Amino acid sequence: MTGARNSQRRTIGIAGAGLLGRLLAWRLLRQGHHVSLFDRGSRAGELSAAKVAAAMLAPYSEVVSAEACVFDWGRMALTWWPQELAALANVTGQQVDFAANGSLVIAHELDKSSLNHFEQTLRNKVPDYAQYIERIDKRRLSELEPEIASRYQGGLLLVEEGYLDNEALLEGLETAISSLDGVWHEYAEVQSANAGRIRANAQDYVFDLVIDSRGVGAKAQLPTLRGVRGEVLWVHAPEVTLQRPVRLMHPRYKLYISPRAGNRYVIGATEIESESMKPVTVRSSLELMSALYSVHSGFAEATLEHAYAHCRPAMPDNLPEIKCFDGLLIVNGLYRHGYLLSPHVLESALAMLTENGY
Ligand SMILES: Cc1cc2nc3c(=O)[nH]c(=O)nc-3n(C[C@H](O)[C@H](O)[C@H](O)COP(=O)(O)OP(=O)(O)OC[C@H]3O[C@@H](n4cnc5c(N)ncnc54)[C@H](O)[C@@H]3O)c2cc1C
Repeated sequence: MTGARNSQRRTIGIAGAGLLGRLLAWRLLRQGHHVSLFDRGSRAGELSAAKVAAAMLAPYSEVVSAEACVFDWGRMALTWWPQELAALANVTGQQVDFAANGSLVIAHELDKSSLNHFEQTLRNKVPDYAQYIERIDKRRLSELEPEIASRYQGGLLLVEEGYLDNEALLEGLETAISSLDGVWHEYAEVQSANAGRIRANAQDYVFDLVIDSRGVGAKAQLPTLRGVRGEVLWVHAPEVTLQRPVRLMHPRYKLYISPRAGNRYVIGATEIESESMKPVTVRSSLELMSALYSVHSGFAEATLEHAYAHCRPAMPDNLPEIKCFDGLLIVNGLYRHGYLLSPHVLESALAMLTENGY
């Protein structure tokens, strides 16, 4: 591609309006381009992995079993999201909840070796960030999360971690994209996304640039992409008040609880090397629910709002992939780190487009 196209308004077609598709549309519209989005679902995003995710922003917890770059790119997200959400609120008039007041890692007394192992691995991986990894005792735990302190001797506070409200984000992006005159093609099954051309519902659409951000739906065109099944439960628990994400270390049933406004919680998540999109299984629900009840008995009276299953889009190295060709940008492979790594992926992709004259 040449730089000659710089500063022109481009027509851009985006295949897949999940997390990356929306973020790219929102930024490209603000740059003045004409953007059309195609999704097999509606603009509510009900078919995206983005919709079911817990949206935890957990670079410390994740680096324990990921490459070091996930930590570096992920830490950037913690300052990037508040700025981007403020810009979004300027357009929509709606705030998206975001918090970075730390996350807790706990274990029952019998399983404390899992917690110790987790802490050791984490400290070895990020030795320069020891001040953000706080070993806490029961007293400190009761200050931070009084409702669960009677069950645990202490735990770990990962000071910088946080989460955001993904439902509100997807909705906010939809509103912003519409108000900036982005064009939605809902229930549009994309058969192919190639340089300058999207084929959807057996019709061809021509653009200056096509972006393929279909997540696991791009598998037919990206043979090395795989789906990694994940299941989550969304519950309403009026008897439970937690201020921050809580992660339970357990040899068999790893569990996290990500809070939302109004005593709602996202409980996750299974991780299964399978591309099945079938509904949540009884076995997974039982495991998640019994581990959940062991954290706080108030969850016994919680009501189940949703049980979601989806597949995380993953490349062989579980790292994101950004590829720019003439007339085509491919962004994929966010795996279990969509909210954590999309800031890095988005900024890198936009920089690549600028370099290539878009
Ligand atoms: C259970 C679970 C929990 C998660 N928790 C977290 C978390 O706590 N923190 C975190 O950072 N990340 C988390 N993630 C990961 C995150 O959700 C994903 O990495 C992210 O959503 C990927 O974004 P994407 O835009 O590439 O794909 P998606 O969000 O899946 O969007 C792809 C879009 O493309 C559309 N599409 C696909 N194929 C076609 C087609 N052929 N035609 C038209 N449209 C198509 C889909 O309908 C969808 O809307 C979780 C994921 C799962 C499954």
